[in-house]
Amino acid sequence: MNILVLNCGSSSLKFQIIQTDLEAIKNDQDKMLAKGYIERIGSQAIITLQATGHPPLRTAEPIRDHKSALQYVLKWITNPETKIEGITDLTDIHAIGHRIVHGAEKLKKSVLIDENVIDQIEDCIPLAPLHNPPNLKGVYAAREVFPGIPQVAVFDTAFHSTMPEENYLYAIPYQLYRRFKIRKYGFHGTSHRYIAYRYRKIKGIEREQVNIITLHLGNGCSACAIKNGFSLDTSMGMTPLEGLVMGTRSGDIDPAIVEFLIHNEGSSVDEVFNILNKRSGLLGISGLTNDMRDLLEEEREHQDRRASLAINIFCNRVKKYIGAYLAELNGTDAICFTGGIGENSPEVRRRCLSNLDFFGIKLDDELNEKAVGVKEMKISAPDSKIEVYVIATNEELLIARDTLRVVLNVPRIW
Ligand code: AMP
Repeated sequence: MNILVLNCGSSSLKFQIIQTDLEAIKNDQDKMLAKGYIERIGSQAIITLQATGHPPLRTAEPIRDHKSALQYVLKWITNPETKIEGITDLTDIHAIGHRIVHGAEKLKKSVLIDENVIDQIEDCIPLAPLHNPPNLKGVYAAREVFPGIPQVAVFDTAFHSTMPEENYLYAIPYQLYRRFKIRKYGFHGTSHRYIAYRYRKIKGIEREQVNIITLHLGNGCSACAIKNGFSLDTSMGMTPLEGLVMGTRSGDIDPAIVEFLIHNEGSSVDEVFNILNKRSGLLGISGLTNDMRDLLEEEREHQDRRASLAINIFCNRVKKYIGAYLAELNGTDAICFTGGIGENSPEVRRRCLSNLDFFGIKLDDELNEKAVGVKEMKISAPDSKIEVYVIATNEELLIARDTLRVVLNVPRIW
C-alpha cells in the first residue's frame, strides 16, 4: 500500500510517501518513495521535493493555502518525469496518515477519520490552539484533493494515554480537571513510541520488557519514562511548553512568573506566552540563536559565556529529568537519545550524562563521538550499568504503519 503521510503546520506542509504492507513491517522493509516540504504557504512558498534515488528539487512559487499545496504535491508525484515507483495516478495513493498533535482523553489511538473524529479533534482545539487547527486544515485539504481515499489520524498525545492519574494530574483543584480537563497529556508520543519499538527490536525482547528513558532533543524537547512498554511519565504537559528547555520554549518555570510579568512589565497574557513560547529556551538565555549547532560553535570558537550558559542549563534540565525518572522507574535498562540534537551532538549527550556514575551510567567516549547521524548505535561503555543508545527517530514511518493497520483493521502492535 502507498501511504501519504502528512504533517501540516500553520504555514507548512511536510509529506512522505511510504510503501508498506504487513510483510514489509514484519521484515522492516517499508520503502520511502518520496518526501517533501512546502513552507511559507500563504505567500511565496519555498518548496523542496525529492523522489528517493533522485536529487532534491528546490523551487519557490506562490501557494495560497493547504489545499493548493496538496494539489501541487499531487501534480508532482503523478508527473511521469518525477519517476516515483508505482505512482502515476491519484488512485496510486491508497491511504493518508495525518499527524495530529492533540487527541486529549478521547482519542487514545490512531483512528479512521470520519465526521465524528473531526468533531472530536475540533473539541481539542482549546487545548492545542496552535496545532490542531492547521492539522485539521490538512485533513480538509486531503479530503478535497484525494476524495474517497481513507484518512487516518495519528495523535502525538496517544502514547502517553497510559500515564497513571498521579502522574498526569496537576496539584490544582480537582474540579479544574473535571471542568476543563486540565492535566498533563504529553507530546512527541509517536517519536517516543518509535524509539521504544526500535529498542525492543535491537534487544530482541517483548514490549512488556521495555524499561527505558527516551530523550527526544530537537527544537522541541521531551523526556519519557517507559515502564513495561508503556509511557509512565513524560515531561511535556497540558501543552508542549512544560518540561525540558527547548529551542525557544522555557520548559518548567515558576508559574508565578506569569503574574509577575503582567504586573511589573505591563505585559498582556498573550505577550507573556509569546515570551515563554518564542523568546525563551536556548534563544532566550543565549540572546543569539535557538540552534544548538550554532551555540556549540559560539562556545568553541568565541568562548561566548551566554552560549555556554544556555547549553549548560539545557543539559542540566535533561539530567534532572533523568534523575527523576530513574527514581520513578526504580532504575532503567537504557537511556535512548533521539531528535536533531540527541542524534547529532556528542557534546550535549556527554554533558547530559556527566557525573552520573552514582547511577552506573558510563559513556564510551569514542563511540559517543562516532554516533553522529547514525540510524542506531550503542554508545555506553561495556561496564555501564545502564546502556545508552542513539536511535534516529522516524515518526513518519510509524504514522504510515498505523495508517495501514487502521485501514486493514488489524490490531496495532509495536
Ligand atoms: P529537530 O527539531 O529534531 O530537527 O532538531 C533541530 C535541532 O537539532 C536544532 O537545534 C539543531 O541545531 C540541532 N542539531 C542538528 N544537527 C546538530 C549537530 N550536529 N550538533 C548539534 N545540534 C544539532
